[in-house]
Amino acid sequence: MPMKVKIVDWTEVERWSSSLSRSIVESGYAPDAIIAVARGGLVPARLLADMLSVKDVLSIRIEHWNETAKPEEKAVVKEPLRANLSGKKILIVDDIADTGESLMLAKENVSSCNPKEAKTAAFQFIGKTSRFKPDFIAEQLSEWIWYMYPWNYHEDVKNLIGRIKKPGDTEASIMEKFIAEYGARIPIDFKL
Ligand code: AMP
Repeated sequence: MPMKVKIVDWTEVERWSSSLSRSIVESGYAPDAIIAVARGGLVPARLLADMLSVKDVLSIRIEHWNETAKPEEKAVVKEPLRANLSGKKILIVDDIADTGESLMLAKENVSSCNPKEAKTAAFQFIGKTSRFKPDFIAEQLSEWIWYMYPWNYHEDVKNLIGRIKKPGDTEASIMEKFIAEYGARIPIDFKL
């Protein structure tokens, strides 16, 4: 199998959010503001803000993996944060640290806004590939795998189908090929 994909469902998202929020509370860290690394960190950040009762939610947009499972050479800050964070304790949130570059860059950008303290959190952390370990993680992965989060179903399905589709394929043949190629079922209704 050339590339393994895991389909993530909302129950898992809730479980990881609760587990992250529990570790953050237990550590004694009480963030004043949460900064999402868009787009992957937007939903996790919003869920954590609810669980940790944080009203101040901002975002910074970083691009690294422009197309499903194909990284650009370098992570780039597309929309930097231009906020005054002085005196504030910050939690920076992303969905997964794969190379870790996006979170590293986000932390650099946040640090330039003068916060009192900045910590990072991600649902997943890939130990083998990441140069940066977030302060809080819900799950450490020992192998590289593409996590298809519910906020990326449509984009990922479109990109991944595009790589295996041949003339004459039908929805049924694509479903079979998808399973053979990626080890997962397509999680949404789709038309070719
Ligand atoms: P990175 O800078 O390599 O740590 O990853 C940047 C962003 O790309 C992550 O926050 C995800 O949104 C997306 N991404 C990278 N690797 C994966 C993966 N293995 N599974 C799902 N999304 C990923």
